Amino acid sequence: VLHNRLVELKGNIRVHCRIRPLLPFDKELDDAASQDSSMPAGVVHAVDDETVLVKCDRPAHALINKTYNFERVYGPAESQHAVFGDVCPLLTSLLDGYNVCILAYGQTGCGKSYTMLGPHSEEECVPARGPHSDLGILPRAAGELFRPVHSAEDFIALAAGSLRLRAQLATQVHARSSRSHLIITATLTTAPTCSSPADRQSHGPPLEGRPSCGRASPGSPGAQGPAEQVHAKLQLVDLAGSECAGVSGVTGLALRETSFINRSLAALADVLGALSERRGHIPYRNSQLTHFLQDVLGGDAKLLVILCVSPSRKHVAETLRCLGLGARVR
Ligand code: ADP
Repeated sequence: VLHNRLVELKGNIRVHCRIRPLLPFDKELDDAASQDSSMPAGVVHAVDDETVLVKCDRPAHALINKTYNFERVYGPAESQHAVFGDVCPLLTSLLDGYNVCILAYGQTGCGKSYTMLGPHSEEECVPARGPHSDLGILPRAAGELFRPVHSAEDFIALAAGSLRLRAQLATQVHARSSRSHLIITATLTTAPTCSSPADRQSHGPPLEGRPSCGRASPGSPGAQGPAEQVHAKLQLVDLAGSECAGVSGVTGLALRETSFINRSLAALADVLGALSERRGHIPYRNSQLTHFLQDVLGGDAKLLVILCVSPSRKHVAETLRCLGLGARVR
């Protein structure tokens, strides 16, 4: 309840930033870009859990020393469990009837899919639930929202099916760069009901180690008395990368694709900017992406933008662009 009050006080848009760990390919990229491989490759740091510092003092380049504040900043060591802990209150809002959107934004290779879904392959993934699992927001949210476990698995299987249809391309930045936006929509409708003691017993306790949404949803263990009927929409969005063509090294058709992607991301940035400035006209119709997300971006919908950034020196220009967008939206 306290958290939801805070959300209301700050408006309906929250911006978090997640810095992924340095990965082996960052070192290769940085070494290729710099003769001086003794310099630290990581230039993006979580100063505390609300502040990002971008500090780059590479000789022959402009000195960068900038801080940005967001509602929450996750350093490279922070777990999927920690990220989901902050998402849980939004699921509570969903069960209360608010439309909710959780949107991962950032350059290719910065951890959007990892944050929303988890690692790419099963070999990379620690699948068990709980604090040490690598599962991302989608499977955790599914596990949290459904009562019978097989329905949650059906939901995850549907999402996995859509992932197979997703266009990907190997670029200089990321071997599996997403060339499309992935939007997973769940519509929640509850029947007015009152849970019986027998219902409550059959559901059993929540899974160990899982952050809980902390609210008794209609029909859930602990719900008492008649509940209001709820209709709400949850959209989980893993955007295509916001990379600039020069860095990704794409050409031809892929370059045209990049320009479409960047145009839709620019339209999204315009909508988010207009919403945060509470402008009268919100330009939803400037792209299919914003048109499609209209229900969860405006009105009293709750929006969480997770900026995903690389700590790498090589990506600092994109990182500044991404953090700048986040700062504009707050
Ligand atoms: P994007 O979706 O932004 O293009 P990915 O989610 O595919 O990027 O991440 C790129 C690589 O970095 C993947 O191999 C992923 O497993 C890894 N990665 C991203 N974020 C993290 C993290 N927080 N911890 C560990 N590995 C990560």
